[in-house]
Order: sequence, then C-alpha cells, then structure tokens
Amino acid sequence: MPETITTLNPANEEIIKLYDTMSDAQLLDRLDAAHHRFQTWRHTSLQERQDHLLAIADGLDRKQDEYAHLITNEMGKPLSQSKAEISKCAAVCRYYANHSGDVLAESTKALDDSTIASTYTRPLGVILSIMPWNFPFWQVMRFVAPNLMTGNVCMLKHAPNVTGCALALESLMKEVGLPQDCFSVILADHKQVGQVLMDYRVRGVTLTGSDRAGKAIASQAGEALKKSVLELGGSDPYIVLDDADLNLAVETCVASRLINSGQTCISAKRFIVTKSVAGEFTERVIQAMSRKSYGNPLDDVDLGPLAREDLRDKVHSQVLQSIDQGAKLALNGQIPEGTGFYYPPTVLTSVSSGMPAFDDEIFGPVASVIEAQDEAQAVAIANQSRYGLGAAIFSKDIERAEYLAAHEIEAGSCAINDFVRSHPAATFGGIKDSGYGRELGSQGLLEFANIKTVTKQ
Ligand code: NAP
Repeated sequence: MPETITTLNPANEEIIKLYDTMSDAQLLDRLDAAHHRFQTWRHTSLQERQDHLLAIADGLDRKQDEYAHLITNEMGKPLSQSKAEISKCAAVCRYYANHSGDVLAESTKALDDSTIASTYTRPLGVILSIMPWNFPFWQVMRFVAPNLMTGNVCMLKHAPNVTGCALALESLMKEVGLPQDCFSVILADHKQVGQVLMDYRVRGVTLTGSDRAGKAIASQAGEALKKSVLELGGSDPYIVLDDADLNLAVETCVASRLINSGQTCISAKRFIVTKSVAGEFTERVIQAMSRKSYGNPLDDVDLGPLAREDLRDKVHSQVLQSIDQGAKLALNGQIPEGTGFYYPPTVLTSVSSGMPAFDDEIFGPVASVIEAQDEAQAVAIANQSRYGLGAAIFSKDIERAEYLAAHEIEAGSCAINDFVRSHPAATFGGIKDSGYGRELGSQGLLEFANIKTVTKQ
C-alpha cells in the first residue's frame, strides 16, 4: 500500500497537500523509462544539452516568483531568500551550459614512441539523487545541471516536506522541452529508495543530507559497488583572531549563522575567538543577533520558522543539553508561544568539546562562542571536530590567514574575512564526517563520468 506524504506550512502549521508514494511497479516504470532515455541522451551533442540548460534557466527566471512562494510555503525560508535561490539555480544552469566544453573535451597524448592515448569523458547512466529540504531547488539543480551536460540522466528522491518543489521542477523540465525522463521524481520510502539504488540500471548515487543518512546510503552503494557522493553536515568553525576587523567579523559571522533561519550546512556554527578580543566580539554578536527579526516568512523578516516541528525541537534540546553541560545562555533560547515552528536567534557562550553545540551540528539560529588563548589554540579547536565542511578566518594579515586556510584548517572550503558560500564555478564538498566527493566547478562534471582511455599504436 502506498504511504501518504503530507506537506505542511511551518509558519502556520496548515496542511498544504497530500501525495501518495509510488508503488514498486511505478518505480520500476520510472527506472525503465530513465534507462531507456539514457540510450539516446548519451548521444546528444553538447550543443543540444547546452540549449536545454539555457531553456531551463530561462524557465526558472520566468517562474521565479511562483517557485519562491512554493519554497517559502513548504519549508519556511524568508521569501527574498527563496527568490535568490531560484536566481542561483538559473545561474548554475547557465554556468554549465557555457563552461562544460573544455572539461568534457577529448584529449590526446603520446605515451611513448608508438602509442597514442586519448581520453574521453563519457556518462555513466541513471544517477539517483537524494536531497534535503533546506535549499529545495538549489541542491537539486547543482547536481542536475552538470550531470545533464555530462550526458547522465537524473532521478530525484526529495525530502517529503518539499514534494511540491520536486514536482514543480519535474513539470518545468517538461515545459521547457527537456526530453521526457532525463529528469524524473520518485516519491518513495526508504526501502523503495534502497531497491532503486540496488537496481542495475542506476549507476551512481548522490546524497545531500545528514551523516546518519550518508552512512545508510553509502553502505547500500558500497554493497552494490556504485559510485557515491555524499554532501553532509558541518559544525563550521569561524576563527576570529586578535587583529581581525571586529565589525566585519561580527557582521559576517552573524549573517552566515542566520542565513536560511540557521539551516545551512556551510553556515558559521562555532565562533572561535582569541582571548584579547573575545569579550568585545561576544558582546557585539549578542547585540547583532538580538536585532534580527523573525516571523511570517512572506513578510520582510530576517528569519522564518524552522522547516519542521521535530527539527525545531531538536535544536532546542541541543541548546538545553549544552547548557546542562556548562554552556552559558547569553541570548533567547526558548521556544516562543504561538503557531509556527519558530526559534529565536540564540547565543551560547563558554561552549566546549563534549557539548552538542560543539560536537554536533545545530541546524538552527544558534551561535556558539568559544574562547581560545591564541591562534594556535584557535586552529586546534577548529579542527577538533568530526566534521570538515566549511571554515572562515578573520584577520588583517591576509597572507597569514591564507597560510592557515590552505595548510592548517581541516575543511573542504575556507573563506578569509568572508563567509563560505557556494558558487557554480567553485568546487564544493567536505572531508571527515561532512562527506566525500565534490560538486560544482569542473569537478561537478566529472564525479559521475567514465573517464575512458583509448590507446592506439
Ligand atoms: P536528512 O534527514 O539526512 O535527509 C536528507 C535526504 O535523505 C531526505 O530526502 C531524506 O528523506 C533522505 N534519507 C534519509 N535517510 C534515508 C535512507 N535511509 N534512505 C533513503 N533516503 C534517506 O537531512 P535533512 O534534515 O533533510 O537535511 C539537513 C542536513 O543536510 C544537515 O545535516 C545539513 O548540514 C545537510 N546538508 C548538507 C549540504 C552539503 O552540501 N554538504 C547541503 C545541505 C544540507 P526522508 O526525509 O524521507 O528520510
């Protein structure tokens, strides 16, 4: 019997829509169709693929307002941020439409006096993507755009609470003329997703989500010997050194922590500040966080509700547990009365290892401040994490900051005097429990490719 998926507006707790999950037979049909489509899609020219991506980009621009409302209604982010998300999706399509040729081009070299080797980048086939709700269009498109250019076809299992976004993307692809089944959505439970992943027609899987989901999917992919890419969580350290521009550091750390109401994998999570500026930095962070507004995400607010009640409750329990273990509550930290899954901007100080605020990812608007004796200790604290996604360093000594970023910080991305943001042209991904594999940039075209060598005498 199919299960029902219910989408719910987290701002007013009203049901938006009910959907049935697909039957096993429907899923097999989808797989068949995708596999069948791959046989022709893999022979399309780069020019054809480019034209399709540009059409998708134009479609996203045209429907920006409609899609932005859908995002905000389903997962609660402020409307202006939903609009920006759609623009970024159009940008990633245009980026890959215009920058894939060189990366995918054939190359030839002599191996010795008599052997010539050519390298061809060929697609793998049907790639399954399993995506989270926090950037319901962007996470999908940052995978789909490069993979369509490589010649793969894409299946999407989205987070249930953004099923409307998943189906809107599927409709858009049809509307702009992408050949049927190049991109298809499956509405499936975990067991069914496992069956799809195991099917011989699926040649790879990418998951963006929690490390818990990453372990489950990676083990299934391993059992089936399939390539996997995992984009998981983080507890990103933002290091503020003695010589930092404190205005910039405060503004940037707070902005990064609160983007998407604090539900961003690469947002600033642990603010690690050296002793001589710790007092002033902390005071200014508390003031800046207290000035941020939260409320109806369709209004002009800084933060909307968190995406689901259970996620809001988890954030609150992580805050309470950290306080129990010795953290000091410096701002807010209570669930507000009333309708909607709101959580106010919250600041914890005296955070240390062993607390959820240090060891785990808090996926909500909670800043954790940690004092370090000096630069060396700040770097050690930053690296004292099972995660390794993003990081930032604030210092006026750019050369020194760049040395630390490049050589000392254990992360996939590190920003200097800025926050980490993803960009279509910049390779993105994590290490340690933040996952493996890379998206975006040239790497995004190659993760699910057969880079084939052909030799001739
Ligand atoms: P999640 O609970 O792990 O879910 C992510 C996706 O995986 C959902 O579609 C979920 O579907 C599916 N899933 C989970 N377990 C599964 C299983 N055993 N089999 C098949 N599918 C499974 O994560 P989330 O709460 O949606 O997203 C937040 C997390 O994503 C955070 O940790 C965040 O840091 C991370 N994230 C990472 C990046 C990055 O680029 N590194 C970007 C964005 C978010 P169900 O809901 O049906 O379980």
